[in-house]
Amino acid sequence: MKTNYSSWSILLLSVGLTFGQLSAQEAVKGEIRNTQFHTAYTPSFQNDGTDAPIKNVILMIGDGMGLAHLSAGMYSNHGQLTITSLKTCGLVRTQSANNFITDSAASGTAYATGQKTNNGTIGLDTIGNALINMPEKLDKIGYISGIVTTDNLDGATPAAFFAHQQNRNMGKEIWKDISQSKLTFFAAGSKELFKKQPQSTQKAIEKQFTILNTPDIKILKQSKKAGYLPEQSKTASINKNRGNFLPATTQMAIDYLNDKQAKGFFLMVEGARIDKSAHDNDFQAVVREVLDFDQAVEAAIRFAEKDGHTLVIITADHETGALSLGNGNMDTGNLKGTFVSKGHSPIMVPLFVYGPQSHYFSGVQENNDIHNKIYQLLSKSKNSN
Ligand SMILES: [Zn+2]
Repeated sequence: MKTNYSSWSILLLSVGLTFGQLSAQEAVKGEIRNTQFHTAYTPSFQNDGTDAPIKNVILMIGDGMGLAHLSAGMYSNHGQLTITSLKTCGLVRTQSANNFITDSAASGTAYATGQKTNNGTIGLDTIGNALINMPEKLDKIGYISGIVTTDNLDGATPAAFFAHQQNRNMGKEIWKDISQSKLTFFAAGSKELFKKQPQSTQKAIEKQFTILNTPDIKILKQSKKAGYLPEQSKTASINKNRGNFLPATTQMAIDYLNDKQAKGFFLMVEGARIDKSAHDNDFQAVVREVLDFDQAVEAAIRFAEKDGHTLVIITADHETGALSLGNGNMDTGNLKGTFVSKGHSPIMVPLFVYGPQSHYFSGVQENNDIHNKIYQLLSKSKNSN
């Protein structure tokens, strides 16, 4: 009996560790009094939901951004966000092929390739075959692609859009995949890890991409393909002087890709630290990260509004922290939140869409459906420059 009891407790402990669930007594409470408000941008909706052809798609992934995270950002910002000003919304189910609770690698792969895979896997199916990712598919039909993240380039979410590796922890192999990728532009939080790669990997990447360590627009404009890896790391929390890296780099990527004479572009933008802040159960940081992400979304929406043939999709790869909200005040920016997990949860994530054909994304869908819908729209689009 005693042996049985202890093996059960080991099993329960390991389940608890896997999913990071906390008992009721361990729930972590947090509170914010926001002081950095921004004004939400509301577009005209002139091109929203029309049947006009799509030229460009901007997919914005708030890593770990559940409905509570988004609501927390909205309530603490005088009850308004650019994201929540949009009219077309839906919900996304995030289960992976082998797990009820996904990780960023499996969900990133679902968004990047249109197929569900096992947790931890980057760009491969459940038996290890390479899946064709969006930049690879689109390259064949004349579109160019880019990625922007506040994480390192080998983070699971960005990696899913260019790499094919068995495990998200295979950083060296993931970096090596960049030179073989179909990306035209990438920007990630820092150059630190790039400099740690073997000379052969660095050279292979530099052969394909002009690597910038400062946002030098002149050099960027002259580059056929470019990678922006800032000298001073921007992978830190928004509370630690990351500045406007995410909104500014989103704008940079849009300008760069739009300037190329391609059929159109696909851009993936990741707000990576919403997830990391939620893993830390840091409510204040979660809210600040959502507000930063919202300003990156604004750059995308303003472009879509002007362009008229751009679809912007804002969603998440999974929820993190099983976050719940308590009392708040929209005038003062005060809000209370409680985390009951240090890991991911299976709660459906919100989806907001702006641009022509936006209605195509409403309702409840799987994460891999989003990829398939985007590809369908772009591959049937007759629109060209
Ligand atoms: Zn996570």
